[in-house]
Amino acid sequence: MTLVFRKPLPNVEHPEMPADVVIVGGGPAGMACALRLSQLIDDHNARHPKSALSKENIYVLEKAREAGQHCLSGALLDPRSMKELLPGFENEAPLDAVVHKDAVYFLTRTGHYQLPLTPPPLQDHGNYVISINRFVKWLAGKVEAAGITIFTGFAGSELLYDGDRVTGVRTDDKGVDKQNQPKSNFEPGYDVKAKVVVLAEGTRGSLTKQLIQKFDLMKDRNPQTYGVGVKELWEVPPGRIQAGEVIYTMGYPLTTKEYGGAWIYGSQNPGSKGNIVSLGFVTGLDYRDPRLDPQHVLQTFKQHPFIAKLLDGGKMIRYGAKSLPYGGWWSLPPLAGEGWMIIGDSAGFLNSARLKGIHLAIKSGMLAAETAFEALVKSDTSTATLGKFQRRVETSWIHDELWPVRNFHQGFKNGMVAGMFNTVLQEVFDGGIRQRVPSHAGHENLKPLATLPADGGPEAHMLGPAKGDSKLTFDKLTDLYHSGTKHEEDQPAHLLIHDTNICNDRCVKEFGSPCQNFCPANVYEMVDDATAPHGKRISLNPANCVHCKTCDIQDPYQIITWVPPEGGGGPNYDGM
Ligand SMILES: Cc1cc2nc3c(=O)[nH]c(=O)nc-3n(C[C@H](O)[C@H](O)[C@H](O)COP(=O)(O)OP(=O)(O)OC[C@H]3O[C@@H](n4cnc5c(N)ncnc54)[C@H](O)[C@@H]3O)c2cc1C
Ligand code: SF4
Repeated sequence: MTLVFRKPLPNVEHPEMPADVVIVGGGPAGMACALRLSQLIDDHNARHPKSALSKENIYVLEKAREAGQHCLSGALLDPRSMKELLPGFENEAPLDAVVHKDAVYFLTRTGHYQLPLTPPPLQDHGNYVISINRFVKWLAGKVEAAGITIFTGFAGSELLYDGDRVTGVRTDDKGVDKQNQPKSNFEPGYDVKAKVVVLAEGTRGSLTKQLIQKFDLMKDRNPQTYGVGVKELWEVPPGRIQAGEVIYTMGYPLTTKEYGGAWIYGSQNPGSKGNIVSLGFVTGLDYRDPRLDPQHVLQTFKQHPFIAKLLDGGKMIRYGAKSLPYGGWWSLPPLAGEGWMIIGDSAGFLNSARLKGIHLAIKSGMLAAETAFEALVKSDTSTATLGKFQRRVETSWIHDELWPVRNFHQGFKNGMVAGMFNTVLQEVFDGGIRQRVPSHAGHENLKPLATLPADGGPEAHMLGPAKGDSKLTFDKLTDLYHSGTKHEEDQPAHLLIHDTNICNDRCVKEFGSPCQNFCPANVYEMVDDATAPHGKRISLNPANCVHCKTCDIQDPYQIITWVPPEGGGGPNYDGM
């Protein structure tokens, strides 16, 4: 069967909608931006009633059916930016527990050793355990109460340009069938013509990627590097872990060649006797063996005696996966230009030494809001005004936090032992001896199968599909069922493979089709086909996709582009 990919339909009129500011993506960054902008406008209008600004034409576009449904995180919240955005937020926000105990363990195959001291970046006392899904829903309520419209179920599918100026966003066409033809319920996307477009799409944003490519924004920067976090939520019997207890692990099942680690956060569901455990494993997307499967890594991790004991008698209740940008300060693109700004994970505001980005996403959203506000007041949305966002970030505590860890991830390029040593050096020398350590894109580390041990060698326990015992461990499809992901089935594939011949002729032989392994949702399959050069052909199950973006990042030939499917489709990360 020929694969048909989503692409813009020709000769379609798109209704126009004027906007002052459109924020693409309603995660913590986008919601904070909307809320701060609203506060600034309210304050301005109170002081200058004669030159009042309207909030009517400020919109947030969110591809999920409901705010928060596509948001997945650990999550521990560093409250710093929320205290600035909404002083006293602790009294009403959905915060599950205050962290009062943290520990870091090093795991060998069967042993576990607690580090005598929790390294400073992982000290979490006073932070909050949250469900990012519930937290973002709550923020969305605040944004709407402030009079700003959130369009849920609408994805930004293209940026609109006038020369080099971004002039708005086209939303997704609805009602397009598998053959990329309009159905009877076809509705063209809107052209939201905006004075300011704020990209808040989270990790590996699809519009952000278009913008970065169009203007070659990453030239002179370190390429962005990523990890993928695979997460399960468990209900465990009382007494296993306290609400507010935090455990990080290093080591097993990864070898010294891979980068990554696990988190275990204890919290409590109102009304349930047992504890809720948020547990996940982040695998750096710079591993060597194309057979490595991050979902398998999590399953192997849970079989470690230390973890198995914690989960024994418990029940897995939700599953999901998402990539996260690791590159840090040197991988930030320019943050603003003619008509646009980039905030949150879309830019790469994440402190990978702390596995934290929510507070930075929020702060970057607030600073972008201050910049957009200034632009609206001055009626100048050119680079002259929006460019001040860059300066605002550089003089804020975002810089103070990210600068000392600017070379953190690069320090691990020669494996874990060298990485630990570099981390200590960077602690002592404020980010290391060198200003900037270069890096390269993680997928370049993938080695051809012919150069790797056929039996997997020391990595064998993480390669290929996990089998699962349906109690402690799960195969991918069982896990996937718990992500609640759902898409309109009759639509073209939103994973654009630019040349499927590469999949069938080259990748299957050279790398063994790693898409089957790195995708945590079984979207990619190599099916038997006697007419294909190696007897296998690529096939897709796009309806399984959980929007983690790993395929867009990690395929060795860089021929996959993730674009948003019809708005509303995707995972259902209730409580995640
Ligand atoms: C596994 C994992 C664990 C983590 N743990 C922690 C933690 O414990 N503490 C912490 O502080 N940080 C943690 N982080 C990082 C943190 O989650 C992110 O830094 C933060 O969520 C970024 O916020 P954001 O608003 O930029 O992006 P997101 O939270 O990703 O939100 C982006 C939103 O935009 C929407 N969107 C995307 N593209 C489009 C489009 N084209 N059109 C419309 N809508 C779109 C998405 O559906 C989503 O709702 C973790 C991340 C991961 C993946
Ligand atoms: S298809 Fe791509 S974005 Fe979707 S779940 Fe798989 S790897 Fe993630």
